[in-house]
Amino acid sequence: MATTDDQIITDRFDDPGSGVGNYNFDTLALHAGAYPDPTTGAILTPIYQTTTYRQEAVGQDKGFTYSRSANPTVSALERRLAALEGVEFCTCYGTGLAATTALCLALLRAGDRVVVSQAVYGGTVRLFRQVLAPFGVEAEFVDTSDEQALADALHPPTRFLFIETPANPTLQVTDIRLAARLAKEAGALLIVDNTLLTPALQRPFELGADVVLHSTTKFLEGHNATVGGALITQNAELHERFSFARNAIGAIQSPFPAFLTLQGIKTLPLRMARHSESALQIARFLMAHDRITKVIYPGLEYFPQFELVQRQQTAGGALIAFEVAGGVEAGIRLMNSVRLCALAENLGAAETLITHPASMTHADVPPKQREAAGITDGLVRLSVGLEDPIDLIRDLDQALSNTN
Ligand code: PLP
Repeated sequence: MATTDDQIITDRFDDPGSGVGNYNFDTLALHAGAYPDPTTGAILTPIYQTTTYRQEAVGQDKGFTYSRSANPTVSALERRLAALEGVEFCTCYGTGLAATTALCLALLRAGDRVVVSQAVYGGTVRLFRQVLAPFGVEAEFVDTSDEQALADALHPPTRFLFIETPANPTLQVTDIRLAARLAKEAGALLIVDNTLLTPALQRPFELGADVVLHSTTKFLEGHNATVGGALITQNAELHERFSFARNAIGAIQSPFPAFLTLQGIKTLPLRMARHSESALQIARFLMAHDRITKVIYPGLEYFPQFELVQRQQTAGGALIAFEVAGGVEAGIRLMNSVRLCALAENLGAAETLITHPASMTHADVPPKQREAAGITDGLVRLSVGLEDPIDLIRDLDQALSNTN
């Protein structure tokens, strides 16, 4: 029988993960997990906006029974995300924090202990401190970029080590390979939040991670249009637990955001390259500006962990953290003066967003932990978008002239 191009794509991607060895990343971003609609040939996986699925007889279904357990549009996104991270299994959630919640409910019991990067997204800290602690889960926050601190914290029994690298918003980098080795020695799983770089720029499973977590809200969907999350793993037993928890707590992604995320991912490799090029250009501009006292960007050669960045990441990413001469007041004047950059909570979108972590994304992190993690009150976070970098530099320049 003649094989059409569509069939080749279908055959190769039909079995989750089977396309991994056959196609390169950019091709997987476009095709993995989604195949033409069998009834109409529609090139895009449709939005299966349905709660339930008619069954042929009792006990005979087509793999879908109720959209809180699984939905075909969401399944297509799950196949694509698993293929991009280079493994087999993925479950998608209503938000990134719903994914973190499902992870914890699937793996933790009262009395369990976990180790978490000191510098992580503020909502992750809030979940461990304010929601899970009252249920008897102990989270120790440590500087996971410090080998000795990490080794000291990782003693049995530790259920998992949760790292975010680079960390939001300080961009501190944790050595994933080292973290995987130390976690294994302590009998702990390694969970990596790969939201800030995505598999386009960082490959945690190749360095020993057990689970990768994403807020798909950020670069994966990339257009400020949806919120979503994902848990990805090569371990079938962990995947079973995540699927069970997702169904039990009702945290699944909806089909429409899953559809939009599938479209967004198609341009992920192009966007991540452009985000990184523009961010490097803007970081260099900020370094040379006399109103700027500090610039943190992993792609700059004098970033303190530049050697590790070169080993672990394929580019610097979109985020820059910096401080303005004149401290908090000057930083606030800058954020109130930008015209093209938008003052907003979020990162990873096509539009450039500027944020004040201490009062916005990390307001719920206790001041002592913020200080220890390097989240100073004057720190400004820039998520460089896809605009012409010259226009962004002009905007920052005019805003900086108002900070005196
Ligand atoms: N992980 C990181 C690194 C984040 O920056 C965020 C949100 O900012 C989350 C997780 C949580 O994701 P969501 O906002 O989709 O719940």
